[in-house]
This record gives sequence, structure tokens and C-alpha cells, in this order.
Amino acid sequence: MSHLRFKVIEEAFDRKAIPVEIPVERPEEYYGKYVFNRKKMLEYLPRETYDALVQAIDNKEHISREVADSVAAGMKQWAIDNGARHYSHWFHPLTDGTAEKHDAFIELQEEGVVEKFAGKLLVQQEPDASSFPNGGIRNTFEARGYSAWDISSPAFILGKTLCIPTIFISYTGESLDYKTPLLRAINSIDKAGTAIARYFDENVKHVISYLGWEQEYFLVDEALYSARPDLVMTGRTLMGHESAKNQQLEDHYFGAIPSRVEAFMLDLEIECHKLGIPAKTRHNEVAPNQFELAPIYEETNLANDHNLLLMTIMAEVARRHNFRVLLHEKPFAGINGSGKHNNWSLGTDTGVQLFAPGKTPKDNLQFITFVVNVMAAVHRHNGLLKASIMSATNAHRLGANEAPPAIISIFTGKQLGEILDSLEKSNKDELIDFAGKEGLNLGVSQIPEIMVDNTDRNRTSPFAFTGNRFEFRAVGSSANCASAMIALNAAVAEQLTEFKTKVDARIERGESLQHALLEEIKTLIVQSKSIHFDGNGYSDEWKEEAARRGLDCETNVPKIFDAYLKQSSIDMFKSAGVFSEIELHARNEVKWEMYTKKIQIEARVLGDLALNHIIPIATRYQSHLVDHVIKLKTLFDKNKGENITSQDIATIETISEYMAVIKAEVAKMVEARKMANRIECEREKAIAYHDNVVPCMDTIRDYIDKLELMVDNEMWPLPKYRELLFIR
Ligand code: ADP
Ligand code: MG
Repeated sequence: MSHLRFKVIEEAFDRKAIPVEIPVERPEEYYGKYVFNRKKMLEYLPRETYDALVQAIDNKEHISREVADSVAAGMKQWAIDNGARHYSHWFHPLTDGTAEKHDAFIELQEEGVVEKFAGKLLVQQEPDASSFPNGGIRNTFEARGYSAWDISSPAFILGKTLCIPTIFISYTGESLDYKTPLLRAINSIDKAGTAIARYFDENVKHVISYLGWEQEYFLVDEALYSARPDLVMTGRTLMGHESAKNQQLEDHYFGAIPSRVEAFMLDLEIECHKLGIPAKTRHNEVAPNQFELAPIYEETNLANDHNLLLMTIMAEVARRHNFRVLLHEKPFAGINGSGKHNNWSLGTDTGVQLFAPGKTPKDNLQFITFVVNVMAAVHRHNGLLKASIMSATNAHRLGANEAPPAIISIFTGKQLGEILDSLEKSNKDELIDFAGKEGLNLGVSQIPEIMVDNTDRNRTSPFAFTGNRFEFRAVGSSANCASAMIALNAAVAEQLTEFKTKVDARIERGESLQHALLEEIKTLIVQSKSIHFDGNGYSDEWKEEAARRGLDCETNVPKIFDAYLKQSSIDMFKSAGVFSEIELHARNEVKWEMYTKKIQIEARVLGDLALNHIIPIATRYQSHLVDHVIKLKTLFDKNKGENITSQDIATIETISEYMAVIKAEVAKMVEARKMANRIECEREKAIAYHDNVVPCMDTIRDYIDKLELMVDNEMWPLPKYRELLFIR
């Protein structure tokens, strides 16, 4: 008998909400308590140091060693005043999540131990990071990698440790993390965007990239979680028959938040606010036990640091409430997976939102300029953008009928769509009409209404215009948003730069600015028409249509990564100063390797569960049935005995049949793994895992799920879907 399952069910059932320690102050007072923000800087740094640091942050400049020493001293004092004992460079290696290596502030001196923190330790460190993925850039014997302070993201205290956001690069200067290329991409969109924005306003000095992510997640009671080795080891259930009730009644979405969950959310929000993460919205999501947290959007680099930090603290806070948080994109088959919509926009340092329609024709021309360039960039690099959100885990979510399709297209909505159409069809005279007039014949004067009437939302689109921003919906819940933000910002930067060259050439030839812009806009609208799709992204017709339009329709994950190595991608990343070709190759090695490793782990866990957990139980149940049949037959005469045991015998046979399939498939899967492991090339190996290992896993699961419906419930060893999803 399986006691563990019933024990953990009981444990989970009995739990009550854990009371949350609510600070006596209001959020206004404790917001940012553990962040070394400008207010703290002003308090803890000498005025000259403060000015020098703020100047360097605002103008993206370096700071001198003296300033660094002075900042370090102030920062240390602030950290110690807030109970910190250690400091750590905090970086984002090419794994999931973040990395920290803690050092105590203490130093030995003649008079004993003193707490010190020198500027050089703040600015740069050399973690022995040889075992972080690097795609062959750094050999293990050349283990040096540097972490260097990112002054644009404030330091914070996590637990008792002062965390300093840093980039992580190799000895030879290649990036080994997500932050370095993200900062490069942000700089490149700043430069390219500013050049365009200055057509409209000479005073613009910077264009800022903004990100507002929406983090979806599942919560599972920790007792139930601990009884599911697949959840513990892989973050998702590798088996489990659909529960009779799941999300059909649509009763979870925006429903009342269960009390234990509400306590968790409150606790999490307080932690977020203390760390300066502007958590704002929380609600139930579509699937049972699925929830979402969204902050107020921020500058992209900061927003991404905050998302990574959130994922860390979520796990910790969940434990306080006897939950485990699942950030996997598809923890449960048959119900919605989790994404992390990336709401993305550009704005000027003068306060103009570049994807928001304005009040004057000039504002609207600027709006259309930026929007059309985004569409052109997404069109040209649609395969790359798909690659930027792809992973072994997000693969379960894409292309299924409940999440963005595996084809990147843009939804504009009716109004923007009509404006684009009328711009495309407008003739030269109308264009000339534009100058000096208040309204114009192009429909551009109607743009402000987009804000008002932004109701037609198409959830099937992976990339949607939503009134004042674009929403990149294909990003996975466990992803580092940087990956998508690097590709998107860099691609748009390249496009804007190219656009400017063309507009300038027209002006050179004597055309007016408006005319030059409108002509180039028209060209782009025509060129990138095929990326625009407002229909049902889940339909089969769309798949055919998209292929006809020449959009990237690849669904094989390791092959999707090839998009990074297309000549157009290499050129684009190079021109935007984001990645060198060497970096791109190295990073793809890491992507393929990670893909292989994730599948490899899942395959091992599944093999173990199938052979050592499921088969033995199915065998035991079957032998009960056999006993039962034999006993019945001894009790009755031959005819009657045959009759009343015929169904049980059929069941016995079916169980044998299913077990035989499972055993054979496990053997096949092990063999496929062995074959794949012999392959040297990471790409080929990943493809072998995709083509030969994954299909075996699907079959094994299928048959285990069938057995789950046959075997005595009392015996079944693993908590079932109905228990994982409905007990809270
Ligand atoms: P929905 O689920 O309807 O898309 P949410 O309120 O859950 O909307 O999330 C919207 C997200 O978009 C929030 O994180 C919000 O801060 C962000 N957002 C709003 N306006 C912008 C903008 N101009 N640029 C970037 N992000 C934005
Ligand atoms: Mg949302």
C-alpha cells in the first residue's frame, strides 16, 4: 500500500494560512528599504561622491577609483547599518537564475579583525567561475572570468548579504552572462532611437527601453510536491492523468484568492516592496493553482534585475507558507502553462511614450515611425525572436492550443491596422497635404482613439500591440527576460539606424522631412506586411498561410536556435554592438547543451519512475486480480466462473500489455540516449535528443497515465493531478 501519498494528502489538507508579519509602517515608508537608492546615497555618500556617481549613471560614464572607494565605504556603512554581514557580486550566468558568491566584510589587521570594503572589490572581482556555461570561450584551465559593477542598477540587501549587480565577462572580454549584452542592446536602441526621435524634438538626449513583465506561476503544497520526484527533479510532472475537473468551468481565473495563497502573496509583496520591486497586480490565472504577479513597468535593465530577484524571493517566501512555487512553463499536461508576457515600450528622456499615439499629427507621425520600424524589425528577424524565447521547457508551451503559436506574427488591432492600410494606399498628393495641416487625409488624425478603444485583444498572438506598448507574449515563465529583450532591442536598433540612413538620403536629395518619413514608412509597411496577422494564431490555416508568407515555421527546438547563426542575425548583432560572431557561436553551444541536459534529466527521472515506482505497483495490483480470479473460479462451476471473471481477465491482460509497452519504450529511450550521448557536436546531439528521446518519453507517459486509471486508487504511489491542483 502506498502510505506516503495519503500521508501527504492529509498533511496538505490540514494546513491553515500562515499569518504574515505586516510592517506597522505603510508601503510608502518601507518601499526600497533594502535598496541603496539615490536617497540612501545622498545620506551615506559625501556630496562630491554622490554627484560624480549620479552623473556617471545618467550619462553612462565610468567612475574613477577614488569615487569607487568612496562609494564602497558609504555602501558598506549602509549595509552594516541594515544588518548585512557579507557582500556579493550578483550576476546572471547562462544558466537559469542568478549567481552569488558571498564574502564577509572582515579583514585581518594587526589590531584584529575590521570590517572593510574597498572600491576595487566593489568595482571588479574575479570569481573562479570555471564551471559556469561558456560555450567553449573559456577553457577550465583559463578559468578567469570577471564580474564588474553595473552602476545603473542599485545594490540591495538580500537576507544578510549586500548584493551588487554585476556583468560577467571572460578574460578576453566576451560576455558570459545575460546582463552584458542586455546593456549593450539598451545602449544601441538608445543611440538609434534618439537619432530618430530628434527628427521630432531636438531636445531628446536619450531613448529608454521599458519592460513590464507579468510573472505567471503555480503553487503546490510542499508535502504533495515532495512526494513527486518528477516535480522535485525537473520542475514538471512527467506523468499524471488529467483530472476530471480542471479549467473547463473557468472558475479559477480572477476568482477569489484562496486564503493560504493570499497570505503568500501579501508576504511576497511586502518583500518585493522592501527590495524596491514595484509589485502591483496579483490575481488567479486560468489554470487551477495558477497565479500571476505584475509590477509597474521600469527601465528594462532594472526591470529584468527585479524579475530575477523576484524569482529568487518567490521560492523563499513560498517555503514560509508550505508551498513550492513552480516557474516551469508547463508543470501539468492538459491545462494552461505559464508565460511571462514582456510588455515593452520605448520612451524619450523628455517624457514621450514612443508607442503611444499623441495629440498632434506630428506626434502621430513619430508614433507611426516607431511602430512601423518595430514591425519591420520583427518581420526581418521573426525566426530569431522565436529563438530568443525558446528553451526545452518553453517548448511545451509554444504551438500548443493554449499559448502563443510557434510562429511570430504581430497583432495590431483594427484601428492601427486601418491606419497602416490607409498609409500604404495614400498617394503622393495626400502626403504633401500632410504638412502644416491639423488633421490629415491619412487617418493619422484618428490615431489618438486607439487609446480609448483598445478592447479587441487577441490572446493567440505572440506579439501584440496593446495601445501604448507591444506585448511579447511568447516569453516563458522561467526565462531570463534579457534573452528576448536583447534580440528585440538590438533588432529594432538595427532597423531604426537603417531607416535613418534612408530618410537622410531623401532629405539630402531635397525632400521634406515629412515626405521622406512617409515614403519610407510606406515602403516598410509594404515590405513587412506578412508579419501582420490579426486572426486566430492557433488555427491550422494560419500555419499554412504563415509558411506561404515565408515566416519561420520551424518547430524543432534545437533547429530553432540556428536562427542566431543566420547571416542576418550575425550582421544585426554586430552592427548593434551586442554580440560578436564568437559570442553567438559560444552561446548557441550553451543553448544546445542546456537543451540536451534538461531532456536527459527528465528521461532519467521518467525511466526510474516507470520501472521502480509504476511497474511494481501495477504488477502488485495485477497479481491481486489474478488471485481474485483464481479464487472465483474455485468457487463457481466452470461456465459461471468463466463468465464472471472475463472482465477481470481482460483487465489483467491489458495491464500486461501496457506494462510491456512501458518496459520496451524505456529500453528504447535508454538506447536512444546512449546513441545521442556518443555524438560530439552539441547541435546534432540536441537534435538526436529531440527526435529520438522525446517521442519515447511521450509514449511512456501515455501508458502510465492509462494505468493510473486502471490501478486501485489506494495503491497509486504518486499524488494525482486532482490532488496537486485542488488542494491548497
Ligand atoms: P494584462 O494582463 O491585461 O496584459 P497587466 O496589468 O497584467 O495587463 O500587465 C500589464 C503590464 O504591462 C504591467 O507590468 C504594466 O506595468 C506594463 N505596462 C503598462 N504600460 C507599459 C508601457 N508603456 N511599457 C511597458 N510596460 C507597460
Ligand atoms: Mg496579465
